[in-house]
Amino acid sequence: MDDKLFNVIDDRRDEIVALTVDLIRFPTINPPGDAYRPCAEYIAARLQKRGFETTFIRGEGTPGDTDRYPRTNVIARYDGRTPGPTVHFNSHIDVVAAADGWTVDPFAGVIKDGKVYGRGACDMKGGMAASIVAAEAFMDVYPDFPGAIEISGTVDEESGGYGGVAYMAAKGLFSKPRVDHVIIPEPLNKDRICLGHRGVWWAEIATRGEVAHGSMPFLGDCAVRHMGAVLRAFEDELFPALAKKTTRMPVVPDGARSSTMNINSIHGGQTDDYSGLPSPNVPDCCRMTIDRRFLLEEKLDTVKSEVTTILEGLKRKRPKFDYEIRDLMEVEPLMTDRDMPVVTAVAAGIREVMGIEPEYVISPGTYDQKHIARIGHLHDCIAYGPGILDLAHRPDEWIGIDDMVESAKVMAVSLKALLNRQVP
Ligand SMILES: [Zn+2]
Repeated sequence: MDDKLFNVIDDRRDEIVALTVDLIRFPTINPPGDAYRPCAEYIAARLQKRGFETTFIRGEGTPGDTDRYPRTNVIARYDGRTPGPTVHFNSHIDVVAAADGWTVDPFAGVIKDGKVYGRGACDMKGGMAASIVAAEAFMDVYPDFPGAIEISGTVDEESGGYGGVAYMAAKGLFSKPRVDHVIIPEPLNKDRICLGHRGVWWAEIATRGEVAHGSMPFLGDCAVRHMGAVLRAFEDELFPALAKKTTRMPVVPDGARSSTMNINSIHGGQTDDYSGLPSPNVPDCCRMTIDRRFLLEEKLDTVKSEVTTILEGLKRKRPKFDYEIRDLMEVEPLMTDRDMPVVTAVAAGIREVMGIEPEYVISPGTYDQKHIARIGHLHDCIAYGPGILDLAHRPDEWIGIDDMVESAKVMAVSLKALLNRQVP
């Protein structure tokens, strides 16, 4: 047990809370991407005081980047006494909109019953605060450490990370030899190590028809009915097949341990924003967006062909049926090996701090690890941080103060092991 390091972190409990509150008070809502710059400046100012070198990187030309809403990222680096590996803590600073149902001000950082409440408390400003205090405590106790520590606050994770980690990874900021190990303090809980995520395929399917007067639909061809046939075929053939697929990926929650598909949206015919009465028309177009999540055992080509085979089948069977399909997003599934240094270091940290075996999990949805793996080609990366994933994006989101303190200890001892190359 590293009592010295742990005592310093215990002493900074209030500091972790204060930092979390300060971060929550920046309403970094995405979209549109509000308050990114002041939040990044706040993080930079804090770390500069501790001797970090800080750089702002604007994701210029990425989705949503304007002078009103610049995609401002911050990266801070502190080089140790001697050369060695670099450990990077990456947190996204953006949050989703507060929406309805809150009983406290979502951007006040209310402290109550051992918890900090606020939008982004668990996803993931509490995790960011824990990682910053962990790094600072480690630097104070072991000032002669080898290697380097990096901390970044990045934007747009909630909308795909293109102006944040993806942009920075394309500039080589998440690649060797600059960086060796990455910990993303997403709220997977203090005793769980998240090794990666399922794959994603988003696509838009359109069916076509022919306009006619609604009183004589037989003169036209209803695109919505064609889409209805697509939905029926999905219900009869695709959903049962997806539910049968199993995986060696330890996805949580259990329901996500098979393949899933969400019908994200469907639109056909007259839009519903008219006032008065609708006009009688046979719709000539219907669009549906599908959100398919897939497993390490599945290939993206197969995932796509399961859908197109159904559409082609309808084309043969159903008079006048035709369709178009367009890819919107593709992300391959990811699973970091359990014997990678960052995994074994954090696992040992969990054992040391909490005296329990870590649980290894896979996230049902993706997060910025995808860009670090695919663009940065860096695979020694996990998500590890305090907070309960189920609370993310919901009203009265909170983070437990004890959980932040404990996970800060885990991050600090993991940092020590990785920098000193003393990974078990
Ligand atoms: Zn998050």
